[in-house]
Amino acid sequence: MSDAIKNQIHGHTATKDHQSVIEHIFTELRRAEAKHPSWPTDPIHAVGILVEEAGESMQAAIDYVYAGGSLEDIKTELAQTGAMAIRALIHLDMENP
Ligand SMILES: [Mg+2]
Repeated sequence: MSDAIKNQIHGHTATKDHQSVIEHIFTELRRAEAKHPSWPTDPIHAVGILVEEAGESMQAAIDYVYAGGSLEDIKTELAQTGAMAIRALIHLDMENP
């Protein structure tokens, strides 16, 4: 990741917290690529994987509010959602250069 991207998020100077969030997303991206090396070639199934992770984020939020779930679980599911957004974007570019 370039220093320019690393240091700027939405036009604001990235704090240490921003960088740790980005690192969490990339950790989840690397984990997913190792665990599931293949990725759907059609955008509907690719976005479906992203939506699945978004749904897991909602479940984790509901569990946190109503059932004693943890903030860590919400953070992990959100990082996985971000990772799948990046993965879908990368593959769209690879398959539609
Ligand atoms: Mg998940």
